[in-house]
Amino acid sequence: MSTIRFQALTELLSRVPKEVKLPSNKVTDYYGDLVFNTDSMRKYLSKEAFKAVIDANQNGGAIDRKMASGVAAGMKAWAIENNVTHYTHWFQPLTDGTAEKHDGFIDYGDGGHMIENFSGDLLTQQEPDASSFPSGGIRQTFEARGYTAWDVSSPAFIVGTTLCIPTVFISYTGEALDYKTPLLKALAAVDEAAVGVCQYFDKNVTKVHTNLGWEQEYFLIDEALYQARPDLALTGRTLMGHSSSKDQQLDDHYFGSIPERVTNFMMELELECHKLGIPVKTRHNEVAPSQFELAPIYEEANLANDHNQLLMDVMKKVARHHKFRVLFHEKPFAGINGSGKHNNWSLGTDTGVVLLAPGKNPKGNIQFLCFVVNTLMAVYKNQDLLRASILTASNSHRLGANEAPPSIISAFLGDEVSKMLDKIVEEVGERKMTPDEKTALKLGIGRIPEIILDNTDRNRTSPFAFTGNRFEFRAVGSSTNNAAAMTALNAAVAVQLTEFKNAVDFLIEEGIKKDEAIFQVMKKMIIESKPIRFNGDGYSDNWVEEAKERGLTNITSVPESISKYLDPEAKKALVGSGVMTNKELEARVEVEMEKFTKKIQIESRVLGDLAINHIVPVAVAYQTKLIQNVQGLRDIFDNGEFEEMAGARKDLIRQISNHISTIKAKVIGMVAARKECNMIEDATESAFAYDKNVCHYLDEIRYHIDKLELVVDNEMWPLPKYRELLFNN
Ligand code: ADP
Ligand code: MG
Repeated sequence: MSTIRFQALTELLSRVPKEVKLPSNKVTDYYGDLVFNTDSMRKYLSKEAFKAVIDANQNGGAIDRKMASGVAAGMKAWAIENNVTHYTHWFQPLTDGTAEKHDGFIDYGDGGHMIENFSGDLLTQQEPDASSFPSGGIRQTFEARGYTAWDVSSPAFIVGTTLCIPTVFISYTGEALDYKTPLLKALAAVDEAAVGVCQYFDKNVTKVHTNLGWEQEYFLIDEALYQARPDLALTGRTLMGHSSSKDQQLDDHYFGSIPERVTNFMMELELECHKLGIPVKTRHNEVAPSQFELAPIYEEANLANDHNQLLMDVMKKVARHHKFRVLFHEKPFAGINGSGKHNNWSLGTDTGVVLLAPGKNPKGNIQFLCFVVNTLMAVYKNQDLLRASILTASNSHRLGANEAPPSIISAFLGDEVSKMLDKIVEEVGERKMTPDEKTALKLGIGRIPEIILDNTDRNRTSPFAFTGNRFEFRAVGSSTNNAAAMTALNAAVAVQLTEFKNAVDFLIEEGIKKDEAIFQVMKKMIIESKPIRFNGDGYSDNWVEEAKERGLTNITSVPESISKYLDPEAKKALVGSGVMTNKELEARVEVEMEKFTKKIQIESRVLGDLAINHIVPVAVAYQTKLIQNVQGLRDIFDNGEFEEMAGARKDLIRQISNHISTIKAKVIGMVAARKECNMIEDATESAFAYDKNVCHYLDEIRYHIDKLELVVDNEMWPLPKYRELLFNN
């Protein structure tokens, strides 16, 4: 057997699950120990500094210099007590993952002796040389510095011996260069717009926050096998590999008992998360072999997203303690389920009301329906924007494949809410409603909570599903930063809520009573957004046809989808809500296009290399063995007998030959196509060219390699096979 594969499998057999001990039986004994949270702030900050942070947190204001020094001093004291030596501004550039540059507290004091220094200035702002982060041309090299600024709404935390300060990352000229800045702006926009609408129902509402509960899916693969698969190690997915005879057909993995080695990984992961104040709660096996999911209790969206980014980092580290590698790629293995990151999204008020949950009385329910209908309308108008925010090179393998939502954006409401919306359309007339009609409608609306509780219908095939007290944006990919999706959704909803309010206010000014005005505007929106509502099977072929008839868009090409960021409707949502400037949006499109191109370029290079250096030589060697065998047979048997025996072998030799020739020709074609694409300077054109001229080679070459895998001697095959990668814990 090939040495690398043999060694990997041998190593696998020697694995002993690593034991994990929790410091206490009660999570609350250590929860948040590594976070500069309210408890630690109370202990380490002066009353004024504490109040300043809480104020800035709740009201979004800034902290002045003097106060910042006080906060920094307290933070430093707390950190040093927790064995911290360094600090970093922790931010989310437009690459995958987070960025950090550590600086020691160590510094010269006034007398030239060494001290531990961490000033207010160092806390609030840093100027990392950030010229190597993608900026979509915003940062010319002569002004390469960006700066990071403290995000007071997300608490500082400790990783190892480093104090991490969540920050935004901005260019010198003020443009956002990260995921967090637009997210914060979108959250502020939806807050303002939603408060306006809530005021129709409750004057006490002064703030609306966004809740996000993400569900992170992932694969765990043994470290030795992972290392023996250069495609996995370099691209995060297998670029080749024939399906295992058994994979997920029997549905025996989903919710199955969790293997011990994996349980231990999960325990250590949860321990680390809880110390970091990430409220992880749920863990289970997913549908595909070696696939798992973990979910926290939902939090305010900005914090929730920081926690998801941090989690992904912690997962990678902890996995290695258990000799695993964690795969976040949306489709690491062809033919079995890929991984998503459902974004459970809702809005909540400072009076404690979840706006996407039915209320307790007709008034609460009208408010609930208002927010449902506005969300539907926002999704309807912004299908392309929402898709643009989630369709990446890696997620494109998942969307549209038969186990994931298609590339058509639709929304599932369930029968009861659907019926209620239809009822509004039926019963609200153009003319004034009679008091009896109004009472009847309100009575119907008042019954919603009981009805929903009785009907927990779920639709797993919808990319955007209502699930009782929230919408679940399911099309989000497992590897991505949720902020892109959450920015798009919140900006779209913000603009929609403002339009709604303007329309209602207009009718009120015309002399129509408030609730009737609300009903009338809702009715219009329900009718207009009807095409986006789909309760059926989103995976079926019929849906593709029906969606087309409804006029919904279905875009599978990643560059085409990204380019929709610049359509008027998307601009209206993002630029109109003040979340991004035109320049920022254009830069973002450029970055996304470049990311796509680079990912495909890397995959194409890795595949070409593996095909020519790993697969073809082995196929040739096996073919030679067969040829020698046939020659031997000819030597010892007479002609008639020989012909009878050799026929099948000769066919096999021919088959192998064909695959080898095709692979070689296609690799040459792919390299030539790549070269041509690389000559194109414009990022968008280049991405389109890669999509059209390079991507197809990946599937075609793989097809022939996978065929070879089936016929070449197993002993000689160089790469761990799907059955080995997927069935070993
Ligand atoms: P599933 O959707 O798989 O049944 P859960 O019911 O456990 O999973 O919920 C998934 C996520 O949704 C969790 O993070 C949970 O905290 C979150 N969630 C629950 N209610 C809300 C809400 N109103 N707004 C946002 N997220 C929510
Ligand atoms: Mg869910």
